[in-house]
Amino acid sequence: MMTRSENRRLAEAAYDRGDTVVKNAPEISGIEGTNHCNIKCIMCPRGEPDIMRREVGHMERETFQNLLKNAQYFSMSVGCTGSANH
Ligand code: SF4
Repeated sequence: MMTRSENRRLAEAAYDRGDTVVKNAPEISGIEGTNHCNIKCIMCPRGEPDIMRREVGHMERETFQNLLKNAQYFSMSVGCTGSANH
């Protein structure tokens, strides 16, 4: 498994070369644990059924834990979104 510093070096090298296809993992990860929400923020497709057609539901706990576990090796930042609490 790649470390964060190895991932950073890959990202910097790709940036310096101007690569459009990169080998590094994402340095910033966003995990949407749920798409249940009863708010209608103007910039969000959540309340627009014609735009967001995904099934409404919650991420399985095991999936969430696996994502967090793996992201720690390469991501500098992990943001969790979903529901009105983000
Ligand atoms: S609270 Fe979040 S999920 Fe809900 S409408 Fe606003 S941006 Fe979208």
